[in-house]
Amino acid sequence: MSDEVGATKKTESGPYVHLCEHPGCTKWGSLGFAHGRATPNWYCFEHKIEWPPAKRS
Ligand SMILES: [Zn+2]
Repeated sequence: MSDEVGATKKTESGPYVHLCEHPGCTKWGSLGFAHGRATPNWYCFEHKIEWPPAKRS
């Protein structure tokens, strides 16, 4: 039996490049925050926003 898989890697769906969206920041945005259906916003650990956002009553 030959169950070897993974020899071929998919490259078309490579790592999505997303940098911190904080103005002037060029760090890697490793933290993604999605507001509802909006596209996620990415921030580095330094500029991460409060999540989940505080509830407004
Ligand atoms: Zn940042």
